[in-house]
Amino acid sequence: LHLIKKKETVLNPLIQSLSDVADSVKTCSICGNLDNTDPCRICSDPTRQAPIICVVQDVADVWALERSKTFKGVYHILGGTLSALDGIGPEDLRIDRLVKRVQEVQAQEVILATSATVEGQTTAHYIADCLADLDVQVTGLAHGIPVGGELDYLDDGTLNAALSARKSIGDDL
Ligand SMILES: [Zn+2]
Repeated sequence: LHLIKKKETVLNPLIQSLSDVADSVKTCSICGNLDNTDPCRICSDPTRQAPIICVVQDVADVWALERSKTFKGVYHILGGTLSALDGIGPEDLRIDRLVKRVQEVQAQEVILATSATVEGQTTAHYIADCLADLDVQVTGLAHGIPVGGELDYLDDGTLNAALSARKSIGDDL
């Protein structure tokens, strides 16, 4: 109702903005990110480390990782996860492109940052198998206790993962 009432000042400019976005957004031909340039700003940034590729499920995951400002490599967006239930197979994801890309840029490391769900981890294992014969280090994100998290509030799965992936305290100091 608010939009219709303010047709001239709100609704029409909004329609115009959405239409501009629809016209200008492109899918990056290298990583699958959404941007108004192709290659996207991350792929064309010479300060990023192209041999370190972080594999994620979705564009939203790229945004989340970029917010943390800690990752200086590049991304590869799969567009989902393997799921027998939903009929999503390897050919529906950008896995072939990833294998090709790893060879083309002679990647040093592929970080599998898929979700800590059954589908996410199945997808990560599948990709690790695809990359096994290539000369590249394949790593995964650590799972565990969030920064500022209290043990009391954590679910069993998170606590188990954190406990089994424990490391010597001196490692980071
Ligand atoms: Zn890109």
